[in-house]
Amino acid sequence: MAMRPLPLLALALLLPSPAFANGQSTHVWISLEARTLLPAGPVADLLQRPDLTTPLVNGTMFPDWGYASGDRDHGEASHWEPFQQEYLRWIQSTFDAPYTDDDAAQHVAFLFGMASHGMADEHFDSLFMERSRCYDDGWQLDDVASLDTASDVLFMNQVGGIPAPEPWLPVDALSSVYALAMPNQPLDVDGMEWGNRLLHVAVATVNELSTNEERIETFTALYPWSTERFLDPATPGSPLTEAEAVKRYWLALWDRLQGTADFASPVAMMTPAPGSYGHAVTAAKPEGRVHLAFAHGVRAATLSEVTIATAEGEDVPVDVDHFYGDLSHAVLARPLVDWEPETDYVLTVGAGVTDIDGLTPATPWTATFSTKAPPPEPEADAPVDEDGDEPGGCGSQMGGPGAGATPLLVVFGALAPLVRRRRR
Ligand SMILES: [Zn+2]
Repeated sequence: MAMRPLPLLALALLLPSPAFANGQSTHVWISLEARTLLPAGPVADLLQRPDLTTPLVNGTMFPDWGYASGDRDHGEASHWEPFQQEYLRWIQSTFDAPYTDDDAAQHVAFLFGMASHGMADEHFDSLFMERSRCYDDGWQLDDVASLDTASDVLFMNQVGGIPAPEPWLPVDALSSVYALAMPNQPLDVDGMEWGNRLLHVAVATVNELSTNEERIETFTALYPWSTERFLDPATPGSPLTEAEAVKRYWLALWDRLQGTADFASPVAMMTPAPGSYGHAVTAAKPEGRVHLAFAHGVRAATLSEVTIATAEGEDVPVDVDHFYGDLSHAVLARPLVDWEPETDYVLTVGAGVTDIDGLTPATPWTATFSTKAPPPEPEADAPVDEDGDEPGGCGSQMGGPGAGATPLLVVFGALAPLVRRRRR
């Protein structure tokens, strides 16, 4: 396809897109970054193979195909574990373990790309975007540019773009998996292929826009808080932290692929980090929340197993819920009153928390965090912020993750988990 900047741009601006979440190029960057973070071992051996870059990258882009072609239900489903685990079981039943030969390896790479996309969207939306809503003016303006588009262009500007991906789609396998996952909703295969092609157009367009000074200025003016923090490893939900979450998720996913998974370490990543100091005391802002990225999709009915108490054992009232919906990974514990200053807390995930496959940790999982200031370091000279609050306010954000947006229920055919995605 001849790709000239102007028609490309016009086409991409016509594409319907999810109002939130990462853009395509950012998703690809996250998978490529997560791949470099993997510890030596079988997952690194597989995903770092140069011949698997194309399946990994295309799998990473794949879930948004339905937004591009207008088949939101099928695209949406591929973001989530019920569909992705169906694909995993299809790989297990079609090939021999450890699924590292030829065709099997391509499917594993594509699946791990899809898993990266789903985890990244959840992580970004529940952490980074929640803060952006409080501190970026762009959210107050209708339809100027949503954060997914703006952040994709701004972030590509900062990292210098990504290599243009080569299209690759395992059409027959995906058709089989859709038939298993959504038996009552036939897949429009041509639509899926068209949607996938449009995602490649979107990546090419963002690459063009990312060097357009005027566009960068406009987006920066809308999202100044975000612009300064995309490359900040200390900002929860930034692409760097998304890559770390994806890496940890992949390691857990590998064990599930090999049939050796347990759920002994149910939490892939906690924000604030276990053992950290200086947690914001505020209940009214995102910084006061505790975020868990579960290593497997977890059942909402078992989230009462997540509790927080002081180090002395006094229970703290928190509202614990998925950021999106049942069987997803991102869970927020929202304090109902401010945390006490100068206090150590213990978060416990009880042994009854249950994943999509019915696995539970054999023993409770615990982690500490504290509102005390970090112990002084000899050379530290930065002033310690009293409660870690960011400037500005968004106390009204306590209405829940969907505040200001319309929840939409999506039923995944026979799998029937209810997943809440926010859309304009
Ligand atoms: Zn997406």
